[in-house]
Amino acid sequence: MKVIVIIPAAGLGTRMVSAAAAKGKKPAASKQFAELDGTPVLIHTLRKFALSPEITEIFVALRNAEIAPFHEHLERKSPEILKKRTVLLEGGEHRQHSVANALASVTASADDIVLVHDAVRPFVSEEMIHEVIAAARKYGAAIAGVPAMDTVKQVERTAEGALIKSTIPRERVVMAQTPQGFRYNVLKKAFDEATADGFTGTDEASLVERSGHPVAVVMGSPRNIKITTPADLELAEFFLKR
Ligand code: C5P
Repeated sequence: MKVIVIIPAAGLGTRMVSAAAAKGKKPAASKQFAELDGTPVLIHTLRKFALSPEITEIFVALRNAEIAPFHEHLERKSPEILKKRTVLLEGGEHRQHSVANALASVTASADDIVLVHDAVRPFVSEEMIHEVIAAARKYGAAIAGVPAMDTVKQVERTAEGALIKSTIPRERVVMAQTPQGFRYNVLKKAFDEATADGFTGTDEASLVERSGHPVAVVMGSPRNIKITTPADLELAEFFLKR
């Protein structure tokens, strides 16, 4: 049985670029190519999956202009990643389009497992990858998530700012991370339905939820941060040193 991982890495990293522009600096590389200890974040992330014995194939969605240079970078600097079947393909305008493009290139049986993991979460652990795969096999769909530490408010946006409508009991909330894992047939059906309905979600689980399939949650980690802003990159450097 195959376990395929899709890594969406075609984002422009606009929050990173605008932070640099605000400081009058040259725009930073998009976050998946920002360097941590001299190595792009995306390489750190790919190594975790290349080292996991359960993963059989890796699909990476990139911006078109980055495919050839990134392939060359892998051959020159990280050939260990290419030991698994690795496919580099063109992403889309939104994260969901990037994942959809990758999914369209995947050949799998109904029971094979497809994981999706953000390129910008390099601190995923082998144990977390294993737990998500095991839960996806058992339930058909599973994600890594962490409990909410802050009190969560539902708000209404107004011209002057946000107004609180209600407080959502914290014990009823988890913060969704990746990896998110699915049986191939469950994920394919959810994407087909989302495309037919013109629905765009911010993660794969939201597509699977609306297609009516229950999604299990396994314990993620507060270290499994999504590198979004320059402050996250500083935190990532600190984690890496330890
Ligand atoms: O933009 P967001 O913070 O949701 O990015 C999460 C992941 O999705 C990142 O790894 C980013 O590179 C990827 N992404 C993508 N294609 C896009 C936008 C984001 O692959 N069009």
